[in-house]
Amino acid sequence: MSAAASPYDVVVIGGGVTGAGVARDLSLRGVSVLLLEKGDWGAGTSGASSWMIHGGPRYLEFDWNTTRLSTQDAGYIVSIARNFVSRVVFLIPVMPHDKNNIERMETAMEVYDRFQPLKHAHPHRRLTAEEAWQAEPGLAPDIIGAVTMEEWGVDPHRLVFANVEDAIAHGARAMNHTRVTEVIRDGGKVIGVRYRTSDGAATEARARVVVNAAGPWSPEVAGMAGAKVHLRPAKGIHIVYPHRISNFSISAESIDGRDLLLVAHAGFTLLGTTDDDFYGDLESVDVLQDEVDYLIQGIERVFPAIRDYRPVRTTAGVRPTLFKWRRYEDELSRRYEIIDHASDGADGFVSIAGGKLSMYRLMAEETSDAVCRKLGVQASCTTSSRPLPGNDAEPEPAAALAARCGIPALAAVKLQTRHGTRSERVLDEGGTSRILCRCEPVTEGELVYAARHEQVRTLADAFRRVGVAAGPCAGAACIIRTGEVVGRELGWSASQRIDAAREFVRGAWLGRAPVLGHAGWAQEELAQGALRGLMVTDGSR
Ligand SMILES: Cc1cc2nc3c(=O)[nH]c(=O)nc-3n(C[C@H](O)[C@H](O)[C@H](O)COP(=O)(O)OP(=O)(O)OC[C@H]3O[C@@H](n4cnc5c(N)ncnc54)[C@H](O)[C@@H]3O)c2cc1C
Repeated sequence: MSAAASPYDVVVIGGGVTGAGVARDLSLRGVSVLLLEKGDWGAGTSGASSWMIHGGPRYLEFDWNTTRLSTQDAGYIVSIARNFVSRVVFLIPVMPHDKNNIERMETAMEVYDRFQPLKHAHPHRRLTAEEAWQAEPGLAPDIIGAVTMEEWGVDPHRLVFANVEDAIAHGARAMNHTRVTEVIRDGGKVIGVRYRTSDGAATEARARVVVNAAGPWSPEVAGMAGAKVHLRPAKGIHIVYPHRISNFSISAESIDGRDLLLVAHAGFTLLGTTDDDFYGDLESVDVLQDEVDYLIQGIERVFPAIRDYRPVRTTAGVRPTLFKWRRYEDELSRRYEIIDHASDGADGFVSIAGGKLSMYRLMAEETSDAVCRKLGVQASCTTSSRPLPGNDAEPEPAAALAARCGIPALAAVKLQTRHGTRSERVLDEGGTSRILCRCEPVTEGELVYAARHEQVRTLADAFRRVGVAAGPCAGAACIIRTGEVVGRELGWSASQRIDAAREFVRGAWLGRAPVLGHAGWAQEELAQGALRGLMVTDGSR
């Protein structure tokens, strides 16, 4: 074991949106930071979210301050990430016997409207049943009316990576696939961490402060320092459709009265989410058939056409909700807490727990303030106005970029939602505008760029960074080629490329199995067979 101690001001554990936000904030204040993530950037709860930057109108009933803070912070986030976000407009249909009639629903929206300007969103509108059917012909025939609500959508993987990238640009060191195995103490003081990189090498890093931003893993990480974080973790799943299946996003009530959302993002749709106490292993959060049925049953009541569409996979994550006894899961507050463990006898160790993606910037700011007080650093936070990389200006029209670079307009749009004003540079450096997959127009150039500059180490990392294999083929048509492109950049042998593709297919399968209907299994057999054939004819096995 090599044990080269390297001094940092701060080690941040966890590369979800919170840890990445803390690393960026501190780096911008001139603090030296080491950010460590055991998997990939955003691959924990952040990536499994509903991809929404929202105010949370639901919390108005029992925790309006969280709605206020999160709406306000959402406003900052959509400004600093303007090229990565898109408006998501909901129709909230009201059905006979719903817990809220149309008057109550509209009253709630009138209250929410007071917060909407904070996040640059429009106020609600009330629609008659006829107007709602006109907007969304797939709605059930017995709706009474509807109200609208506007939120923002974002790819959380890109949001997390943009924070990591900016932290690096301001002097941070950031390593994915690197697990913290131990927190080092010297008496009552935390003085650093031991970590293991993907090649198995063990190293230690000394720091004046260690930040625990490990989301649902934060109790486990706190335990390494002999400290305590008390969460009430709650599991949530989504069903993913590889295209838009409705004109608008739709809200519905599930059988137990909880809110469900069918979220129409740019090129795909998420149906979610469940919210259940979770006592299992955080390393294997499985999706159950019951959970899939619960979501489809709930949305079918207002959008019967749902059963006509083929889902492509599921996602699952665990909310790092703060502990509270005697409350239903969906009534738990999304408040957050910054814990200075000096009071638990672990001075120099700070945890950030709870919260949500929509207020990650504020959570990072307050955590960084607490860290800076310990370090005696005076610099103040700049992240509410400083754009993330690629968001300094409006990008040119996608059609102009497409024409100049010889790529389809849709590929240009997608590129811009990931790289904003830097899109052409990404493509130029990648050196090719060839499209990798027919169903998801990702260019090989963008993948080359990601392998060179965006810490892609596995094909699942490539999926998160550029959306490869996210379309209807789920990788059947493009994963072998993806392995070749990434493998060429990273110096993989032919058999390593095949192993990488095999590992991707195996991992993706776990999320696909719960949504394979009758025809889906047959199609899956075909796709798997074709892939196996390709992997063998490649000559490696
Ligand atoms: C189903 C679902 C839907 C949601 N939808 C939304 C939404 O639309 N909008 C919203 O605002 N919020 C949403 N949330 C909440 C939001 O996703 C989370 O609050 C937020 O993403 C948590 O981010 P995080 O960085 O704290 O945790 P994570 O994203 O889980 O990051 C923690 C990271 O720490 C790493 N880690 C753990 N242990 C170690 C170790 N020993 N060494 C190194 N690294 C380690 C993990 O690998 C992980 O990547 C949703 C949550 C769920 C479950």
